[in-house]
Parts: sequence; structure tokens; C-alpha cells
Amino acid sequence: MSNAIMLKFTQTAQAFPPKRGAAERADDFLEIATPYILAKAEEQASRCSQCGVPFCQVHCPLHNNIPDWLRLTAEGRLEEAYEISQATSSMPEICGRICPQDRLCEGNCVIEKGFGSVTIGSVEKFITDTAWDSGWVKPLVPLADRSGQSVGIIGAGPAGLTAAEQLRIKGYDIHIYDRYDRAGGLLTYGIPNFKLEKQVVGRRIARLEAGGIAFHNDFEVGRDASLAELRERHDAVLIATGVYQPRELAAPGIEANGVIAALDYLVASNRIGFGDEVRDFDALNAEGRDVVVIGGGDTAMDCVRTAIRQGATSVRCLYRRDRANMPGSQREVAHAEEEGVTFEWLSAPDSFDADTGNVSSVNVARMRLGAPDASGRRAPEPEPGAPVVLPATLVIKALGFDPEPLPLLFGAPELGVTRWGTLRVDNRSMQTNIDGVFAAGDIVRGASLVVWAIRDGRDVAKSMHQHLVAKARAAARKPVA
Ligand code: FAD
Ligand code: SF4
Ligand code: SF4
Repeated sequence: MSNAIMLKFTQTAQAFPPKRGAAERADDFLEIATPYILAKAEEQASRCSQCGVPFCQVHCPLHNNIPDWLRLTAEGRLEEAYEISQATSSMPEICGRICPQDRLCEGNCVIEKGFGSVTIGSVEKFITDTAWDSGWVKPLVPLADRSGQSVGIIGAGPAGLTAAEQLRIKGYDIHIYDRYDRAGGLLTYGIPNFKLEKQVVGRRIARLEAGGIAFHNDFEVGRDASLAELRERHDAVLIATGVYQPRELAAPGIEANGVIAALDYLVASNRIGFGDEVRDFDALNAEGRDVVVIGGGDTAMDCVRTAIRQGATSVRCLYRRDRANMPGSQREVAHAEEEGVTFEWLSAPDSFDADTGNVSSVNVARMRLGAPDASGRRAPEPEPGAPVVLPATLVIKALGFDPEPLPLLFGAPELGVTRWGTLRVDNRSMQTNIDGVFAAGDIVRGASLVVWAIRDGRDVAKSMHQHLVAKARAAARKPVA
């Protein structure tokens, strides 16, 4: 096939979809990028050099067939591009929006050095948004009838939703249980609208519902049923509950009013976006306050940018390492800086001052990077000197998440966990130590990424299907008493 239409990276500059201006963005919670127009998506896709060994694809957790859908886009064959894209991904338009592409596909694109990578994520988003608008996204239809067997899925985040879709296609009865009142997990209640507008998640969930998947919201396993009860109800169970135990900080004054957990803050903001009433919202609203966010990951970036949009007086992010060593996406840091966030690199909270019980300032110790620790990263250590005082009337702790104690919560002390509290699964089958109980997503990996949750959801569905087929065969072979 001729490459005449491709390899345009030497004559066409990299162009991401234009971002709205920082001042306009700070006034609303809408996504910050305007969509590509067709001609621009075609032009940007044509920059791809159609590598024989595409490192973009190797480094995409879903191994998406990126060169092929870029070529089809460049050729104006968008519907075919969509077919290829959706064959390996259950939520391409969501990954196109929120994957940290600079660390995955785009960060490994061979033209990145010298020319700037192909804008893979933005093209991926364009293809599937166009598919939704054009009616190419087909309803979910089971390809067989296995309605004699049912699957219970605990957790309606990306891992649970993906597994549900894949198993429904195989024809099983699927029931998803979630303790929130809406499905979507962190797609719905963690990640803010300015990264992922909720109607994008909502239309995916509506498609699953229309395809016959039963959603049981406001249903907390451990409170409304035990794991054993779900095993009674279903032929197989998937645990995809994510990780929700916030990591804590020990520092004098941490118990002051106005020192809050990141997820409480983000959930409240997302609920306001849905038009819900949030009890005690004043305690979780940054408007008119000096905000300090502690942490350097994706959650911290979402908090600082939410605070800007809520009308905070000032927003600072404290991170104990430097910019090069932070876990969050560099693109997110750049967006935050444009929007007016100040980053205090190599800084850690030493103590908090309070005024009549309410936090009023943070005393910040400056840090330096010492010798590498067990993880190979240079460990931060305090720099000698007096702490710096920063005004803070709202402090948001975004230090990461650990798994909840599921064996205890689920009334299943026999459920095997690792020393980090994540669920222990067999590498190949993704089955836990309990027969017919599988696990996927963050509850197995620890806090990770949406794209990995989708990958796990697809993998575990294959394994659960094999298990269910074997179970049905064994039942059929049993002599009738
Ligand atoms: P979750 O999405 O956490 O879903 C788990 C579901 O299980 C939840 O709906 C929960 O209510 C439910 N549940 C838990 N316990 C029970 C129970 N006992 N009974 C019933 N239901 C239960 N990743 C990216 O790729 N890009 C990003 O930009 C990004 N931003 C993030 C921002 C924030 C603030 C956070 C916290 C994470 C972010 N992540 C991001 C990470 C990503 O959201 C997760 O890796 C991903 O959602 C994990 O999917 P999951 O399905 O395993 O779990
Ligand atoms: Fe890149 Fe993520 Fe899309 Fe893979 S799923 S191509 S890593 S944006
Ligand atoms: Fe195209 Fe870059 Fe992937 Fe090569 S690595 S196939 S240039 S997107």
C-alpha cells in the first residue's frame, strides 16, 4: 500500500486541538480542548510514519492498532478507523481524553524527538466522538444465549463496566453492584468534568443498560450482601472495587477544620456538577479561600484545578520532590500553571496552624533530594532551616489511596490479599483463591490508570468465560439423580 498520504511529519507541525484560554477555562468546568475539525484530524493523522514496529502500540496497555486507525483517518475512512479502534478498546473516546499519553503511546512515538509525536489521543477521541455523533456505535447485542448463567460484578468503574460488556456479548446475565448512586466509579465521581465531561461516561453506561446489563446502585457489598451471598446468587463473581482508603499524613495540627481528603472534595464538586444537593458543601468549597493541596499525582492536579474553578483566592500545590520526579502528568502541570496554580516543589508540610479550630496556615519544610530509595527514586529529605509559612484556609490531602480491608468488609476472611492489601489473583486466570471469584482493576494493581482497568476488564472477562463454560459442561455431564 502506498504511503503517499502518510509520513507528513517533516512538513506538517504537531498541532493538538486548541485549548480554550486559561481565563475562560477558570470560569467553567467544561473540557478545556475544543474538538478537532475533520481536516485537522486527517492532517495530524497523516504525520504518522507507519512504523514497522510501532512503539506507540507496544506502549499502549490495550495494544491499540494505532498506525492502522491513523492511516484510515488520514484517508478520510473514519468509520473503518472507528471499527479498528473499538475492536481493542471498550472506551476509546475516554482514553483519548484522560490517558497520560505523554507517558504511554505518544511518549513512545518515534517522531517525538525532533518533530513532536503524532497527537494519537486527540485523534482517538475524534474518531469515537464522531462515531457516536454519526450513529456508528452499535447497540450492545449478546452474540449467544447463556442466560442460564449469571455473573455478579462488584464495582461499576472502568474495570467492572468493561468486563460486564464483554461478558454480556457472550450472552450471560450480568448484574453490577455499586455503592454509589451512579455507575462509572472514578470516571463519574473522581475525575473532574474539565478532563472528562460526564455525558461522555453517561452514554457508555446507557448503552450497557440498554444491552440488558442490570445495575444495582446504592448497593454496598459488605452492608447489603456478603461475598458469600453474591456467590450463592451468581455462577461467578468479579471484584472490581478500586482503592479508596486515603493515605494519611502525620503532622501537628492536621486535625484542624478545613483539612480535608481529596476524594471528599472531588466527589462533592462532581455532585454539584450533576446538580445534586451536597450536605455541608461550604466545608468542601474552595471559593474565597487560600487553598493548599498536598501531593503530586493526578488527584492533586485535579484538586488544584477544581479549586481554581471554584474561585479560590490562591491555590498552591506542595510536592516533596521536584517537577521531574512527580508522578502526575507533565501536561496536567502545564494546564494547572496556565490556570494560575503555584507549585511549591521540594516542599512538605511540617505542621498546621489553626485559628479557633479552623486551619489558617501551613508551615512548610523545604526539602532536597538525597540518595535513591528502594524504588530507585531519590528520596526527599528536609533541608535545614526554618519552615516557610503559607496562608491556608483549606488544605486538601491528596497523598494517594490504599485498598480497603476487603476480607473484613466482605465477611470473607479467607479472601487472599497481598502485603499491600490488594487482592491476590492467579496471574493467568485473574481468579482469587476462592473458586469462581475473580478480581480486576485497581483493587489488584493498586492505584493505577483507567486504560489498565479497561485492559484488566477485557482480560478477566475472557478468563471468566472459560470458567463458566467449564462449569456449564461439568453440570451437563452430571448424572441426573
Ligand atoms: P474505580 O473506578 O475506583 O471503581 C470502583 C467502583 O467500585 C466504584 O464505583 C466504587 O463505588 C465501587 N465499590 C467499591 N467498594 C464497593 C463495595 N463494597 N460495594 C459496592 N461497590 C463498591 N486515571 C487515568 O487514566 N487518567 C486520569 O486522568 C486519572 N485521573 C484520576 C483522578 C483521580 C481523582 C483519581 C482518584 C484517579 C484518577 N485516575 C486516572 C485513576 C483511575 O481513575 C483508576 O485507575 C480507575 O478508575 C480504576 O478503575 P476501577 O474500575 O478499578 O476502580
Ligand atoms: Fe494512547 Fe491510551 Fe489510546 Fe492507548 S488507550 S492509544 S495509551 S490514549
Ligand atoms: Fe506512527 Fe508514531 Fe506510532 Fe510510529 S510510533 S506508528 S510514527 S504514531
